[in-house]
Amino acid sequence: MDMQYPEWIWQNGTIKPWAEATTHVMSHALHYGSSVFEGIRSYDTPRGPAIFRLSDHNRRLFASARIYDMEIPYSLEQINAACREVLKKNALGKAYLRPVAWRGLGGFGLSAETPIDVAVAAWQMGAYLGDGVLEQGIDACVSSWQRMAPNTIPTGAKAGGNYLSGQLIAREARRLGFGEGIALASTGLLSEGAGENIFLVFDGTLHTTPVSAALLNGITRNSLITLARDAGIEVVERDMPREYLYLCDELFMCGTAAEVTPIRSVDGRQIGAGKAGPVTRKMQEMFFGLFDGSTPDKYGWLEPVDRT
Ligand code: PMP
Repeated sequence: MDMQYPEWIWQNGTIKPWAEATTHVMSHALHYGSSVFEGIRSYDTPRGPAIFRLSDHNRRLFASARIYDMEIPYSLEQINAACREVLKKNALGKAYLRPVAWRGLGGFGLSAETPIDVAVAAWQMGAYLGDGVLEQGIDACVSSWQRMAPNTIPTGAKAGGNYLSGQLIAREARRLGFGEGIALASTGLLSEGAGENIFLVFDGTLHTTPVSAALLNGITRNSLITLARDAGIEVVERDMPREYLYLCDELFMCGTAAEVTPIRSVDGRQIGAGKAGPVTRKMQEMFFGLFDGSTPDKYGWLEPVDRT
């Protein structure tokens, strides 16, 4: 995916030109995967630009850091403010934000107590999985790569190193001509997409894989569960075998980048009518409705960029 670089970025407490946001090649994170990050979207809403669940995302950033004993030298409110500042400075409305904290330069070895560097970038981004996918859906495949076993690398942390797994899954899928890959857990049961959680629809009920299935506990997933239950749609979090992908009436993926993306086929087998089904469309309508005001923001998920 091409990326148009913005002019400004936040790093270690200051806004600076994009090209000046550098780190040393001997930074711990570059060698050992010791970074934690978030992906957050902002939208232009009728009440001005707003960041979707900014505080929840950054709370997860701190939780990921905690798992790896990384002490982020800023408060949650400071990171939230940095996110707002980067959007404003770059005059961005609908954008993707990337706060990242990493072990920098300092000492040598796996357990080195390095300084923790922090940056927040933001740029304009459309549909992550390609143009038109929100309407047409994507063709997915089950990956030959499994997700990490739960007692190896914790999938509940959004850490840089985890995305070696994501890269294997996503790159294999693209190489084979698919839009995205879905991975199984080490149990052999369904886990999630390379960078998305999954929902299956059976008889009008939503079924999604549980957090114990080697996945990231997605904030979009949580938002959709909440919206669905509020609308009287039953949601079940459960383990499911691979073949349920082929048997369900509808299937979609969700995530900050992917938003709510229908899946029209898996492993070359058509799902339902081969296009977004009624429950998927309803979930898209409720989710995107948050940003045009047609879905009430009952939970204060839209955090305004201008707080005045
Ligand atoms: N799983 C993985 C592996 C991801 O990288 C993401 C994207 N952050 C998700 C699920 C979806 O999470 P969220 O809805 O919080 O973006």
